[in-house]
Amino acid sequence: MKALVKSQDAPGLWLEDVSEPQIGINDVKIRVLYTGICGTDLHIHDWDAWARETIQIGLTIGHEFVGEVVDFGANVFDVPLGALVSGEGHVVCGRCRNCLAGRRHLCAHTQGLGVQRNGCFAEYVVLPATNIWQHAPGIEPEVASIFDPFGNAVHTALAFPVLGEDVLVTGAGPIGIMAAAVAKHAGARHVVISDPNPYRRALAEKVGVTRAVDPAATPLAEVQKQLKMVEGFDVGLEMSGNAHAFRDMIANMSHGAKIAMLGIPATEISVDWNRIIFNQITLRGIYGREMYETWYKMTVMLESGLDISPVITHRLHWSEFAQGFDAMRSGNSGKVILDWRDVA
Ligand SMILES: [Zn+2]
Repeated sequence: MKALVKSQDAPGLWLEDVSEPQIGINDVKIRVLYTGICGTDLHIHDWDAWARETIQIGLTIGHEFVGEVVDFGANVFDVPLGALVSGEGHVVCGRCRNCLAGRRHLCAHTQGLGVQRNGCFAEYVVLPATNIWQHAPGIEPEVASIFDPFGNAVHTALAFPVLGEDVLVTGAGPIGIMAAAVAKHAGARHVVISDPNPYRRALAEKVGVTRAVDPAATPLAEVQKQLKMVEGFDVGLEMSGNAHAFRDMIANMSHGAKIAMLGIPATEISVDWNRIIFNQITLRGIYGREMYETWYKMTVMLESGLDISPVITHRLHWSEFAQGFDAMRSGNSGKVILDWRDVA
């Protein structure tokens, strides 16, 4: 089958013919229909220090997908052939303290699809049946293909109660924009998103944020005044990994504010800890999504009117993957989707 493989110890990805993945007794085999390109895939493509340390040469990459079930192992009884499914890309151990307690998203022995095991940028992908999410009727396949990053957005946006609160989102990448949309859907009063990139601010406006601001042009203190806010933002969603953005966030939060952090900083960040301590601010690190409470929430929010489809800005054929990676790298993109339906 065709697959996008990290087949050389150098920047780039290569379209290769590889053997189809085999299923074990607990596995499900999926014919891939659409995939999303993630920032992680870009790191692997560009072969930065993290990627060189983490990725084995010969790996098929990719972890955001939707597809159709074409086969399953002898132990699998509840995933019908032909079902439209996505996969939770974190394959957990099942035996550690957190797994046994039902907190699988906190497993310390997680294997990542397309990172530590062969991924979904291919004709077929295989995952354990416990990692399969069957989509509800009516979920659009393209939207279904980005449930993985949508899950990051939902897990971050709902880390703290937002009903009636003023929410600040730093970073208007696709996950930041989806998180802003979720916060608004979940009843926040004001949702302000900050990003220096005008393309991304315009995209954020399409999902109904209160304000999409360039933090260099309009200080957040000024935005607070315009919105008649007096005590600072109640909930912060840090999606940028940017030191200036994070410091700016801390400086604009209310006493007792809560901050959920998903953006990954490239280096250590120093912050004003006095402000965090004296203003009694809670910081919480977020990674992945909850299995499978977040997946449930994603589904029911779409069913109750949340629309994240504006975040998909590029729809490309699988053979145009290089163009997709270029769009991601330019910063002038939301989600980039690859169509694998005719790959056979
Ligand atoms: Zn575990």
